[in-house]
Parts: sequence; structure tokens; C-alpha cells
Amino acid sequence: MTGRPGGNSGWHTETTAVHAGEFVDPVTRASSPNLVMSVTFAPESVTGFSARDEQGYEGHVYSRVSSPTLAQLETKLAALEGAEAACCYASGVGAAHALICGRLSSGDHLILPDANYVGIAELARDTLPRFGIEVSYVDLSRPDEAAAAIRPTTRMLWLETPANPTMKLCDIAQLSALAHERGVRDVAVDSTYASPIATQPLALGADFVMHSLTKFIGGHGDAMGGAVLGRKSDLDALRLEANVHFGGVLSPFNAWLILRGAATLPIRMQAHQDAAFKVARFLESHSAVSRVLYPGLPSHPQHELAARQMRNFSGMMTFQTHAKGPEIAARMVKSLEIIHYAVSLGHHRSLIYWIGTDDIEASTFRHDATQLRRYRDYAGDGVFRLSVGIENGDDLIADLARVL
Ligand SMILES: *Cc1c(COP(=O)(O)O)cnc(C)c1O
Repeated sequence: MTGRPGGNSGWHTETTAVHAGEFVDPVTRASSPNLVMSVTFAPESVTGFSARDEQGYEGHVYSRVSSPTLAQLETKLAALEGAEAACCYASGVGAAHALICGRLSSGDHLILPDANYVGIAELARDTLPRFGIEVSYVDLSRPDEAAAAIRPTTRMLWLETPANPTMKLCDIAQLSALAHERGVRDVAVDSTYASPIATQPLALGADFVMHSLTKFIGGHGDAMGGAVLGRKSDLDALRLEANVHFGGVLSPFNAWLILRGAATLPIRMQAHQDAAFKVARFLESHSAVSRVLYPGLPSHPQHELAARQMRNFSGMMTFQTHAKGPEIAARMVKSLEIIHYAVSLGHHRSLIYWIGTDDIEASTFRHDATQLRRYRDYAGDGVFRLSVGIENGDDLIADLARVL
């Protein structure tokens, strides 16, 4: 039994996560994936020199274009996401840059949420306008405002749900239909917070999904990576431009680590959710806490959408406190015993970080008065962003009780 590298559409998610993209090595009979670090590959017959001449060539030629361990990871990710194809990059931001700059040109218009992942928000604000790409920042929880922002030149609508750091959701099916009806070619979803276990944006009408593999999919905080998923024709074109010309490809070693992480994604997401529910309910009942935003709780303002769009509520939440955030953050740095006070998220280990509204307005968002009021509706003066790991929820509660 050598297994089927492409996965099997009849498999359940847990089986797909373990087996898709993996096979018994035909030479050594190794059961686990090999790590292939080779940069170049000796073709069995003479191929052209340009990557464009390699289109249609089944094997690998040079690892900036494709390589075996990455191909295994890309097959597994595509199977988990229900996508025709995937391309991996050196980081989540690398994947976002590849997708945006691989699809848009000078004179094109991009619609972004009014609050989303800081790295992508800053790429859009600081870099894209220098290349003639215009960006509008829209509250995508209001479809009428999204519709009003669409122009004849709008080529891409970028969604992120749940959004980092606000935990605000948007309706992928509704916004995808609205954008396509009005001639917007690409709907892209940063689905890092949800993971493919919670939400499959392509099935809801989106054209592209982007993941930071650094987060839930890799899951162990030891490998940075990113991925873009979608139709094969689109991904083939993106590979030629973004991989070959921009060059921000994932290292095979990271691909190998992420491949191992992805195999346990379904059971980890279940564990993240189980512990997150316990922690969220504890925080909601704590007198020092003024607000908890977790999509699984009925108190989340978009809980109805979350229940409809997410099969798993993930491990991400925010909470706000009556006392000043930076004071509690200082206690966390000193006194937390299990949870690490550190950025990043989606790891097996719980992580927490304070994100002050004034700080992030100065560094990243620079909202107008209406946008700021809406940001504060979700984030107040600032939030503790808590990424609940797969530890026992009761131990996490005891750790938080110590500092609250
Ligand atoms: C972390 C993150 C990214 C960026 O990923 P990196 O791997 O850090 O480059 C993008 N989007 C979201 C929602 C993230 O949380």
C-alpha cells in the first residue's frame, strides 16, 4: 500500500489531515514523509531553462518553483481546504504579498476591512499606494458599505474572519456574492483565525484563501510559513509570478515541520475549542473582566453568524478589564506560569498579549472618527488577545486567576 498522494475525497477530515499528501516512499519504504532539501533536480530529459517552459512538466526542476516536500504540504493543505491547488510562502505576510501583488496592478482598487491583521494593514497603507494600487478600508460587517465602496476598478475584496485583533466577523457567502455580482474579480479570505477545520471560504464563494501556517496549521510555534489556496489555473499563474519572480518561497525544512503539524490539526482544533470555552466562561464570570469576545459565546455580537459560518470556534478570544491593561500586562509578564506573554497565536502553548487601542491607532490603523468609534465598539481602550492552547482549561484558568 503506497497510499494516494492526492488524498481521497471519501475520507473524513481527521483521515485527510493524516494521509493527504503522504505516501510510503517507493525507494526506502519509509512511512513518514522524507525531508528533501535538494535545491535542484536532475530531469530525465532535457527541459527548457525558463520556469515558463516547465509548465506541464510533472517533475521538479528548481526549488524556487516547486520541490517534493512542499508539494506534499501543498497537497495536504488543498485537501483540508477543499481547494484545487495551493502555493506555500515563507510567511503569512509573504503569502498575502504574493496574492495581492500577483493579482493586482497599478490603477487597480483593493477593498480591505477597516481592521485586520496588522502586517497586512501596514502593507496596504505603506507599500501598495507606492505601486499605484488604491486601497479603501471598509467595515465589512455592513454589506451596504461594502457595496458602496466598490468601483469599476475594484479588482479584489479582502476579508478576514474572525479578524485579528478585534474578533469581528464578516459573512463570506454574502460578501462574495455581492462582490462577484458587481464585477469584482477576486474575493480573498485570510482564514488564519478559523483554520480549514472551522471554515472553508472557497465553498462559500471566495476565490482565494490565505493562511499564516505559522499559526494553527503548523501549530507548534517553531516554523513560519504561509499559503494561498484556490483554483488550479489561478495558482499556476501565481506560482509563475509570485514564486519565480518574487521568490519568497517556503523552506523545505519548514514545510516538513508544518506537514507534521497539519496532521494533528483536527484534534488540536477540537482541544483549542474545548479549553477556550472553559476559559471564556471563566473570564466572563470574573469581576475584573469587563468584556469577553469569543465567537462561541452567545454574548459575541455576531454569534449567530459565527454559528452559521464556523464549524469550530477556534482558540482565539479577546477580553477587556476594568483595571488598566498595561498594569495587568506587567503582572502577566512576571507571574504567569503556563501562558506565555508573547505575540503570535494558534500554537499548542497558550499565548497572551495586550493590544492598546491608542498604540495600534498610532502605528497601524489611523482610523477616521467613525471607524475609530466602531473599532472601540469591539476593542474598547485595548484588548488582551488570548490564544488558548491545548493545555487543560482548568490549569489555564488558575494561571489567569493569579494575575487578574
Ligand atoms: C499572523 C497572521 C498573519 C501573518 O502571518 P506571518 O506568518 O506572521 O507572516 C496574517 N494574518 C493573520 C490573521 C495572522 O494572525
